Amino acid sequence: MADPKGFLKVQERELPKRRPVPVRIMDFKEVYENQDPTQLRRQAGRCMDCGIPFCHSGCPLGNLIPEWNDLIWRGEGRQAIERLHATNNFPEFTGTLCPAPCEASCVLGINQPAVTIKQVEVSIIDQAWANGWVTPHPPERLTGKTVAVVGSGPAGLAAAQQLTRAGHTVAVYERDDRIGGLLRYGIPDFKMEKKRLDARLAQMQAEGTRFRAGVTIGEDIAWDDLRSRYDAVVIATGATVPRDLPIPGRDLLGVHFAMDYLVQQNKVVAGDQVAAQITAEGRHVVVIGGGDTGADCIGTAHRQGALSVTNLAIGIQPPAERPEHQPWPTTPTLFEVSSAHEEGGERVYLASTVEFLANEAGEVRALRVAETEYLDGRRVPKSGTEREIPADLVLIAMGFTGPESDTLHGQLRVPFENGTVERDGDYATSEAGVFVAGDAGRGQSLIVWAIAEGRAAASAVDRYLEGETQLPFPVRPTDRALTV
Ligand SMILES: Cc1cc2nc3c(=O)[nH]c(=O)nc-3n(C[C@H](O)[C@H](O)[C@H](O)COP(=O)(O)OP(=O)(O)OC[C@H]3O[C@@H](n4cnc5c(N)ncnc54)[C@H](O)[C@@H]3O)c2cc1C
Ligand code: SF4
Repeated sequence: MADPKGFLKVQERELPKRRPVPVRIMDFKEVYENQDPTQLRRQAGRCMDCGIPFCHSGCPLGNLIPEWNDLIWRGEGRQAIERLHATNNFPEFTGTLCPAPCEASCVLGINQPAVTIKQVEVSIIDQAWANGWVTPHPPERLTGKTVAVVGSGPAGLAAAQQLTRAGHTVAVYERDDRIGGLLRYGIPDFKMEKKRLDARLAQMQAEGTRFRAGVTIGEDIAWDDLRSRYDAVVIATGATVPRDLPIPGRDLLGVHFAMDYLVQQNKVVAGDQVAAQITAEGRHVVVIGGGDTGADCIGTAHRQGALSVTNLAIGIQPPAERPEHQPWPTTPTLFEVSSAHEEGGERVYLASTVEFLANEAGEVRALRVAETEYLDGRRVPKSGTEREIPADLVLIAMGFTGPESDTLHGQLRVPFENGTVERDGDYATSEAGVFVAGDAGRGQSLIVWAIAEGRAAASAVDRYLEGETQLPFPVRPTDRALTV
């Protein structure tokens, strides 16, 4: 049968039996290698210091990229980290995890490879930590005002650091047992080791930020009670509601949301005992969803000793090169090959899952999958193309629909709009003194946006409390710049 898109590849493949488990050769340490300093300098030197640096608007933080490129080229690493920290509180998070929309808008990219901006960024901050140039910046005076930040992901942390440095007394509330949001329990260590996060938290603590882990606002403390205790509140609770796949067999044993799986492995890497851990060891794994979360599941499954890993995406395979309808300097949607993809597994596009099939014990044994066809712009399973893909662990990584609304809406009457917390151009909700930043207000997005929004919301809070602010205001909620 003709199969131009490789759709049949997985079903026709002979899958190995369930054991023995392959020898595990990968650990959970970061996969990146250190950049050779000569190459790094050469890369920084390729920057043309353009009259209009499009990379500035490509980067949601407005990072001063040509300035620090020039400083690195001159060997002035200490000044480089100062310029980098001027716009980005946590360059080690973005330097390891950002998809680097700045590189898509680098002027060199018109006719040759862009400057490796992200690599220069992480090298600057790594050098700074190694040389002891990253120190606490406690405020010179306290304002006497208090702020509660709810949620300790990159948005909450950026807001908290800015507000603490402005002299406010800031407490960060987090319902998880450890601080960090998705940086802690979503993103695996092989993409960013937690020691990077812990070093920042130590810096923030030394500056005066207070952390309250294991406290769920809305349950342990009511939202309206929190509001009355503090002069301002920042909602940075993320977009944590997973998009489900409500098809027959969804409740079978062995079908899980990706985050349930990733959180457990992150806890194990942190040294915790996890009872009845969901594991890919000795299993045929199917990951549904082709984004960052899906890639993290693939990398984790290989490290746990999966027998096979298949990644299904409902849409078409994006092109490897920038298509004409997404011209420079926009950020194109391209076929992404992350480290987890390089490590192995099959990627299948145009795959619509229509049913999970059970064995006699009520465990998933296969997926029934049809080829996707586009009807009136909708993606639907093409009848007559259904096939089975064997699987004994299925991970649903289809993104997130938005923040949890129940207690926020019930206790604080904060309205929602299109599934996210409604806010105005200054990150303010309709409740006086209550602001929102990051995925909770923006919807599922990126770390770089979360930091940018946290910084901007902090400026808005500072102005609300003090009548004026010296803090920068990098982006408005509606800003999309040149990126998604
Ligand atoms: C698996 C995965 C991998 C990803 N990989 C990347 C990547 O490589 N690069 C990238 O740029 N982006 C990535 N992202 C997206 C990125 O992590 C998010 O956009 C970013 O973390 C959002 O930051 P945030 O601060 O808004 O929210 P979050 O990081 O989600 O943090 C919100 C925090 O609020 C807490 N919280 C929620 N409700 C309450 C409450 N009522 N009381 C107390 N605490 C509460 C939550 O427990 C959570 O810790 C990934 C996302 C996932 C899920
Ligand atoms: S934060 Fe992301 S977009 Fe901005 S300079 Fe760094 S890699 Fe580029």
